[in-house]
Parts: sequence; structure tokens; C-alpha cells
Amino acid sequence: HPTVGVLALQGDVREHLAALRAAGAEAVTVRRPEELAAVDGLVIPGGESTTMSKLAVAFGLLQPLRERVRAGMPAYGSCAGMIMLADKILDGRDDQETIGGIDMTVRRNAFGRQNESFEAAVAITGVDGGPVEGVFIRAPWVESTGAGVETLATLGDGTVVAVRQGHLLATSFHPELTGDQRVHALFAEMVRGASAGSR
Ligand code: GLN
Repeated sequence: HPTVGVLALQGDVREHLAALRAAGAEAVTVRRPEELAAVDGLVIPGGESTTMSKLAVAFGLLQPLRERVRAGMPAYGSCAGMIMLADKILDGRDDQETIGGIDMTVRRNAFGRQNESFEAAVAITGVDGGPVEGVFIRAPWVESTGAGVETLATLGDGTVVAVRQGHLLATSFHPELTGDQRVHALFAEMVRGASAGSR
């Protein structure tokens, strides 16, 4: 049974653990390199990416995270987690580090004051049964993507809010806050597929 970790440095860790478990996955928190080494996939929660970046450095996790993502560990980032998986960020802090892995440029806090928080129905490629309720909280958007990146969801105006590049998945919004486990089920399936393939 593959185990999915939730990076537990900062952010809405409990909500992701609950959503993963409701989707039928084994879920554990990850704070230390040994814990990271023991999981088959990793969720990077919503929260504050500048703080998460600092704590990842302080806990000695940034390099191990980069190495595992580079080596093919499936990862899913929501909101701040999307920022952490971006190769490039705009409107980040000067010293802000990311794990990277997805060939995209993400703009932090992109939606501006009028739209700091909002909800929108979002249809996601690979998620059946109709749109999910997208909860956006000081969310980033995807400003540009490289050739290997698949756009999974856009808003009505074309803004890209969900992407996948192979084993990596990211959403601008927070499915962990809605009680709808379909995005977590999709990710759990990616983790199962990757662990089955490596055995
Ligand atoms: N604005 C936050 C950041 O830049 C992300 C917000 C969130 O995760 N809800 O990290």
C-alpha cells in the first residue's frame, strides 16, 4: 500500500491528511528527511510559500525535496504548494526558494485585492463527475508553461489554475477545503501508478 506524505512545515496539513484518507490513501506527515525518504508521494499544502521556503531550508529539507522530485516522486501542490513546485515565480521574495520540477512561471497573489478570496466552479481534465468547487485564497496563477506541461483547468477568462507535468500536479485552489476528494483521488492514483511501476 503506497504511503502519501503531507509536507508539514506550515499550512493546512490536517485538511490534506483528511482528504487523502477519505480518498482511500495512507497519509502521514513529513517534517524530516527520514520521513520524506519513507513516502511514495508528497502533498505540499496551501499556506504561505515564503515561510514554507524558509522552513524547508531550516529543516534541511529543501535539497532532499528537490532530489526526490527530480528522481520521479509524485507530488501535488495546492496554492502555496503550487508555488513550491514552480521552476520560476513572479512577485516572490528575493530569497524565496522553490523545490521546482514543473516547467512553469507562477505569479504569487496574482488575483489582486478585489479577488483575494473567491470560489469558482472549475472543470479539471482527468477529474470526472463535473466541476470541482475551486476555493481561491490569495492564490497564484500560472503565467506561462513549457512544452511538457499539460493545462488541466482554466477559469472562464483563460487563466490557468491547474497543471500536470508527468508525476507532478498543481492547483491554484484548495480542494482540501471542500469535502470533495476527487483531486486527492487523482493524485493517490498517480502515486499508486508510480509505485506499481517501480516495483
Ligand atoms: N499567497 C500565498 C503564498 O504566496 C498562498 C496562499 C495559499 O496557499 N492560500 O504563498
